[in-house]
Amino acid sequence: MRYNRLGRTSIIVSRLCLGVLTVGPLQANLPVEEGARVIKHALEGGVTFLDTAEAYDTYPYIKKALQDTQVRPVIATKSYAYTREGMKESLERAREALGLKTIDIFLLHEQESEYTLKGHSEALKYLVEAKDKGLVRAVGMSTHSVRGVMAGAQHPEIDVIHPLINMGGLGIMDGSREQMMAAIILAHRQGKGIYAMKTLGGGNLLPRAKEAFRFVRDLPYVDAMAVGMKTTDEVDLNLAWMEGREWPELEVKVGSQRRRLHIEDWCSGCGSCIDNCRYQALYLEAEQVRVQADKCILCGYCSRYCPDFCIKVI
Ligand code: SF4
Ligand code: SF4
Repeated sequence: MRYNRLGRTSIIVSRLCLGVLTVGPLQANLPVEEGARVIKHALEGGVTFLDTAEAYDTYPYIKKALQDTQVRPVIATKSYAYTREGMKESLERAREALGLKTIDIFLLHEQESEYTLKGHSEALKYLVEAKDKGLVRAVGMSTHSVRGVMAGAQHPEIDVIHPLINMGGLGIMDGSREQMMAAIILAHRQGKGIYAMKTLGGGNLLPRAKEAFRFVRDLPYVDAMAVGMKTTDEVDLNLAWMEGREWPELEVKVGSQRRRLHIEDWCSGCGSCIDNCRYQALYLEAEQVRVQADKCILCGYCSRYCPDFCIKVI
């Protein structure tokens, strides 16, 4: 495993980052013990970087894993809060739920442009003050858009950017893969730490998983890459790929487990999930919601808006 410094911060992370979303309620919904076991397995295999978010509801998994191992990883989390008070509550919630005095990296969740960043200026200011007090080590933002990366690259208070980049350019909201790569290079040159998301296009690149994995792994301006993993087999395979090892039997085993968006047949067609999918991947047909698989990046965010718990990534 290689370890990199995140931009100009003092934070050193493994190049492979475990995306904890996958084990949690929005996706695999594993029991806490089982999800924690996957995290522990990754930490003891050399991963020292975990990515989560307040909205993922996965703090209990991380807390349990931390209780079960001596490895102390770098933890990045995110919040949609845009006010000072809201961000203060998010930070306190994370510190308490994780049992940590300091959160390593706190991000503004899903910033689209300079305007969204401006709209979150109070929350950002709070995070910078929290950094001065030692409650946070680095401040940053996650984004699915080229404009978001450009805005973060030019913002003096942003230390770390978590951009969406993958071989197919899947999920980039406002441009091509090449435009996103150019924006990330600019941000990297500005000294921002870069850790990539959606390496496998939310699962849509699974049929070409090794190629997609290597594509992001080999980008010289990406310090680390977050990959969602929900089994110890997936952890082992990603560790092997990160270290340049081959494991054909495990490739076949893991490759047979394709992910998809599942909608229960008791869907009432209320439309709440449709309004909250930023990729316009959902639509109504015969009074039930349907998914357009080629548009869905399997983020699982829509499931948070279903009052009847009938939508999830499986
Ligand atoms: S349908 Fe749901 S899982 Fe798919 S992109 Fe939209 S919000 Fe994400
Ligand atoms: S929010 Fe739930 S009940 Fe409403 S349309 Fe979506 S899946 Fe169906």
